[in-house]
Amino acid sequence: MSVIRGATGDWEVVIGLEVHAQVISNSKLFSGSSTTFGAEPNTQVSLVDAAMPGMLPVINRKCVEQAIRTGLGLNARINLYSVFDRKNYFYADLPQGYQISQYKQPIVGEGSLTIDLPDGSTREIGIERLHLEQDAGKSIHDLHPAKTFVDLNRSGVALMEIVSKPDLRSADEASAYVTKLRSILRYLGTCDGNMQEGSMRADVNVSVRRPGAPYGTRCEIKNMNSMRFIRQAIEFEARRQIDILEDGGTIDQETRLFDTKRGVTRTMRSKEEAHDYRYFPDPDLLPLELDPAWVEEIRATLPELPDAKRERFIREYGIKPYDAGVLVSEQISADFFEAVARGRDGKLAANWVMGELFGALNKAGRSIADSPVSAENLGGLIDRIADNTISGRIAKQVFEEMFETGADADTIIEEKGLRQVTDTGAIAELVDQVIRDNPDKIAEIKAGKEKLKGWFVGQVMKASKGKANPQMVNQILAEKLKD
Ligand code: ADP
Ligand code: MG
Repeated sequence: MSVIRGATGDWEVVIGLEVHAQVISNSKLFSGSSTTFGAEPNTQVSLVDAAMPGMLPVINRKCVEQAIRTGLGLNARINLYSVFDRKNYFYADLPQGYQISQYKQPIVGEGSLTIDLPDGSTREIGIERLHLEQDAGKSIHDLHPAKTFVDLNRSGVALMEIVSKPDLRSADEASAYVTKLRSILRYLGTCDGNMQEGSMRADVNVSVRRPGAPYGTRCEIKNMNSMRFIRQAIEFEARRQIDILEDGGTIDQETRLFDTKRGVTRTMRSKEEAHDYRYFPDPDLLPLELDPAWVEEIRATLPELPDAKRERFIREYGIKPYDAGVLVSEQISADFFEAVARGRDGKLAANWVMGELFGALNKAGRSIADSPVSAENLGGLIDRIADNTISGRIAKQVFEEMFETGADADTIIEEKGLRQVTDTGAIAELVDQVIRDNPDKIAEIKAGKEKLKGWFVGQVMKASKGKANPQMVNQILAEKLKD
């Protein structure tokens, strides 16, 4: 448990997250308009999205499927009966005057998710529910000094709101939660998790209490779309609340905004100003009734998810839990690793993928999706180490060349003549040469200066341009020094 020390004793921070995840679907939740990001303003707006009088919403089966899929991926109960409600409020980017959402009867109920903490431990975090709702349009305030522009492209796009229980206890845990949730959604193919483009954003609820005491009053920090800001906001907000309580004050339940420039949270509206949304079932939409057979069909298509994959990698390939965790965080790196490791030494494969490859990609500012070294070629390089064609050291040189040119290991080894010298005669010749050139050092070794042997091996390796097999050099040198 992470405790914050205050002037009057210890405090515990309690956090619950409401994550809005944009559903991957070609068209919107209740209309056929496209959902493609970045189109010219107001080019993806149907009469339904613009809320023209008399237009009727029609539910998009794909969006429902994605919500079910996500619920299953979060070990959650799927509600076979759910209801769409109208959440009424007025805003320029909400032409309907209400958002269609789910309130008392969401499509997905309780579930859970396991977070991985920096110290290697894990914790299970409860999911309260997941519901489907429409996104609003976007108001643009900074294009004109006196006017606000409205872009309705986003209006009606399907969102899943995923609500956690107040189970998180630190900024680390909140960040681990968002990371794991994002990873699962991406594996499931239900949300692209792109926080910068706003396809995943979080409302962060924070309260503090004395360890073991009942929950305190929470404040909700709206619309966070960066992991760094989520952490900063939690840390600031917990400290702010502790300071108030320690001064004998009380916390007002309110909605706050995080000022990213100053790193502080500010009041947006207090509970007294909270909206009364007047939720009621949308008369234009029937309750959603799911066929249990369809839910089972969807369940059967779920991929292996990160936690299961991580366990399997540890078991099958004998790699470290930390390494496995890094490799499975993205499906694409997990697949890449497996293509390299299958039928080879798993630890060696993990070292090459996580060390050399990730390092080089990072330095080049590239992602694994456009790695110049394919999994097949990296596997080929490891094979040449395993069959002693090249040493591990030369392999690094070959790898650099592979990364630059995209060629395979065998081509580079042949072209550059990097094949390891394992021919006893050739190595013996090099050893003799070094002995002949250094009679004084030989005398010192024979007089008992054992340490010089290492220097000798180094000289021989150098003379071979790193290509001599080091074990053989050691062996032959030992033989020669005996006489
Ligand atoms: P609202 O619509 O009022 O925001 P929700 O039920 O949608 O309510 O979300 C409540 C969120 O606040 C949940 O994520 C929940 O875990 C969290 N939460 C509830 N009580 C507390 C508390 N005392 N401290 C921190 N978070 C809390
Ligand atoms: Mg809320």
